[in-house]
Amino acid sequence: MSVLEIRDLHVTVETDAGTTPILNGLSLTIRTGETHAIMGPNGSGKSTLAYTIAGHPKYTVTSGEITLDGEDVLAMSVDERARAGLFLAMQYPVEIPGVTVTNFLRTAKTAIDGEAPSIRTWTKDVKSSMKNLRMDPKFAQRNVNEGFSGGEKKRHEILQLELLKPQIAVLDETDSGLDVDALKIVSEGVNRAKAETDLGVLLITHYTRILRYIHPDFVHVMVKGRIVEEGGPELAERLEDEGYDRFLPQGEEEA
Ligand code: ADP
Ligand code: MG
Ligand code: MG
Repeated sequence: MSVLEIRDLHVTVETDAGTTPILNGLSLTIRTGETHAIMGPNGSGKSTLAYTIAGHPKYTVTSGEITLDGEDVLAMSVDERARAGLFLAMQYPVEIPGVTVTNFLRTAKTAIDGEAPSIRTWTKDVKSSMKNLRMDPKFAQRNVNEGFSGGEKKRHEILQLELLKPQIAVLDETDSGLDVDALKIVSEGVNRAKAETDLGVLLITHYTRILRYIHPDFVHVMVKGRIVEEGGPELAERLEDEGYDRFLPQGEEEA
């Protein structure tokens, strides 16, 4: 069992206007086997949380801590975070020119496990995961994220998730830009990983749609860099009906 603990996290970002606080005392605990949804209006800091867990250099932690099984995540390099069992699927994944999907996955797997997977089982695992995600086998020979459609990027993320077998996965807006069929396939992939490896999931989303396919145990509402309400799946249903207006100051309701 693993536990990711975020305690009283404060994060700033440098903008033209100077140093802007984005996360203002955020606390959250995620254990393997649990699925947590973080929901909130646009601009509330959800992606900032994901980037901070991932170790993106643009975001400065001014106070608070993030630990994985008691180890200081903030002191780890991005690679060390992955080796420790964290998986971060970013809202805007980067292109890696000249590196094919298959080589990328094998390199990542080798880095995370500390040894290269045996060719035979690896090829078989990649093929079967790609088949599960209804991906064309030719996809494996394409360069990472080069010309990927929105749906292909998401499937590639979930392919990584299935093959790298992390302890805790942070999925930022995995539902964005997916049609219903793709959303189902991607969600099934996450659910398979949950069932097979007792994965812990932090699912960041603006909309409740994906929660029909990936069922959260806990729902957290984030506004202006803080968790303002927590509950079970019923909270997501309430947000679906009512939106975020009651969490926002008067006159600031979302369009
Ligand atoms: P969400 O994912 O909830 O929509 P974000 O974390 O993307 O929210 O953004 C929260 C706030 O922080 C926004 O006001 C956004 O403009 C600002 N912000 C986030 N990242 C950056 C950045 N790299 N540079 C400047 N401003 C940023
Ligand atoms: Mg956003
Ligand atoms: Mg975001």
